[in-house]
Parts: sequence; C-alpha cells; structure tokens
Amino acid sequence: MTGCNSRLDFVTLSGGPHDRGITHGERFAAEVKANVDRYFAKFAHYGIPAERARELAREFIPLIDETAPAYAAEMQGIADGSGVPLVDVALLNARYEITYGAYADAAEKTPPRRTDGCTSFGLRATVTDAGRPYIGQNWDWMPDIDVFMMSVEQSDAPNHVALTEAGIVGGKIGVNEHGIGMTLNGLVSTADGEQTFRIPYHVRFREVLDATRLSEAIGALLETDRVCSANVLLGSEDGELIDLEILPESANYLYPSDGVLTHANHIEGRRGESQLERILPDTLCREPRLRHLLTDRRDTLSVADVKDALRDHVDQPTSICRHRNSAEPEQEQSSTRVSAIVNLTAKRVSATAGPPCQTTYHDYVVSEN
Ligand SMILES: [Zn+2]
Repeated sequence: MTGCNSRLDFVTLSGGPHDRGITHGERFAAEVKANVDRYFAKFAHYGIPAERARELAREFIPLIDETAPAYAAEMQGIADGSGVPLVDVALLNARYEITYGAYADAAEKTPPRRTDGCTSFGLRATVTDAGRPYIGQNWDWMPDIDVFMMSVEQSDAPNHVALTEAGIVGGKIGVNEHGIGMTLNGLVSTADGEQTFRIPYHVRFREVLDATRLSEAIGALLETDRVCSANVLLGSEDGELIDLEILPESANYLYPSDGVLTHANHIEGRRGESQLERILPDTLCREPRLRHLLTDRRDTLSVADVKDALRDHVDQPTSICRHRNSAEPEQEQSSTRVSAIVNLTAKRVSATAGPPCQTTYHDYVVSEN
C-alpha cells in the first residue's frame, strides 16, 4: 500500500442490505478481522479491556436494529460473510461511541481521547477555475488501518461512493447521486460521554449519503442526541456548503467565508468546550494554513492547486499532509491514510491510498441507475 501508484480497492455493494454486507464481508474477511484486532489493541492502550469494549458493543446491536434495521442487516451480512462475530462488527461500527462509553463510569472526568485527525475544506463554485463546488479532506488515522472505497447501489435509496474502513457499513468521505457529499473530522468536547447509548455516528453517515437534499442530511446528524462530538462538512451540487460542529446535545453551524470553508479538530463556534487541541495542538495550525493556501489563489483555484495544498508540509510531521511522528507511541501514530477531493457535480471522489505527497489520486464515480 505504499507505492506511488497504489490505489484503494474499489468494490460494488449491491442488492439488499444483507447481500451488500455479505459481499463486503467475503471480500474483506481478513481486513475486517485485522481492523477488529487493531481497535482492541488501541482500546487496550487507553485502558479499555476487550471484554468491556465487547460488552458495550453488544448493547449497540439492539439499538441499531431498532432505529436502522437496514444498517443492522448490513452489519449482520458483514459478520456472515467474514466469519467475524457480530459483536466485533458492531464494535467497529460504534467505535467512536464505545471509547466514551468505557469511560462514562470512571470516577474522573472523561480525558481527551485521540480520535481521527484530519483537515477538511469546502469550496464554493465561485472560487474555482472550473466554476464547480468541491469538498475534500486529508483523513489522518492509524497508518495501517484497512480501508476501501465502496460503490453502494441501492434500490430504495440513492447510490453513492464512499470511503470506509473494512467492517464499517457507513462511509466517511463520499458523495451520492444527488450530489450530496460529506467529509469528517474528529472533535472532542467536555460534554462527550455523558450519555452512553445513542445512535452511532457511522449509522448517521449512511443516512447522510442516503439523503436526497442537504436538509435531510443535516437532519440525520442533528435530530437525535449523540454520545460524543464530531465535525461533518456537507456540500451539495448546487454549491451550498455547511460545516456542523456536532456536540452531544447541540451543534455549531459554520458557513464559507469568501467562498472557502476549512475545518480541523477544534471547535470554532460558541457552543461547546473544545478539548482536542490539548493533545493535537497542530489542529490550530492546520486549519488556518489550509484556508490561506486555498484563499490565496481564490478565483483561479484549480484541482491541481487543491492537491498542492493537501500536500503541504508546514509544521511537519503534524502538517496538513501528516506523517508518522517518531515522538509518539505506536498506538497513537496517525498519518494521512487517505486524501480525497469530492467533485459534487460530477459525483466523483478522487482519492489517494496514503499521504498525497507520495501517492497518486485515482477517481471513483457513483454508479448511474
Ligand atoms: Zn507528505
């Protein structure tokens, strides 16, 4: 996965939810198992024993069953196809929430947990040379996590293309046939973890990519309370962009300034007490750096310019293009696993299989009905 021409696996998941899960599970059986082992190791590093993580994961199964039966059927398909127990598949799908649940009963206040790094952007059509809107991001996470690009073909919801981790039903960075797209950044607030069981983020991300309108996508994220925080940047093919800093019971809404929206891992709105900059101080450098790189060329910004911005190494190794940091323990390593640029009008994700300074962007397009 390290050569400059290496690319993400691209797999079509079609048929009913259980069939899609079977395809996912059979194709990536070894990768699903490996990801489960990686998260158990990571949980253990943060003091969460495997049995505690499984106990929490088990309780998410009926919650997902009840609120999102198709999602639950797709998880069951992954378990059936891969031979990995359903509880471990549920653990992957609720990995954000489980981290907090495990600390909810601790005597001390939930400490900041390291979560997905990342630097995201949105560009209105008026600032790009092609006159098209784009969103995208560098997704910084465990350097060895197994991921793939899925083309989801559904009869009762829009087709979409999205990046996912092997074993997780809901995509992270993607776009659907209606030109609704999303990117994701880790966010931590002091209110996280006060509630243990709420609909997991990955379930909501599937609903975002099932939406036909921007407001439906926003509703999927905000209508019910959450266990923890996350940042989601949404865009539509009409060129509208909104960034949601989602807290457990509220949210901040950010809009483009001069046609450009950027976000990293700290809360910028007035609600919520931001925590992640305490362990990822580089978030305070990456966000303005990306905004400057994108606004300095405003009006003539090409996709090539955007790629150059995503390859930026100012403040390295914790730069926009993030690399391993030898000062960090192995379980806390994070580097740009995927760099992605989403063309909302062409319904296409261009993505790399590693840091964009070392790997080439390849295109993944939503299937037509
Ligand atoms: Zn780099």
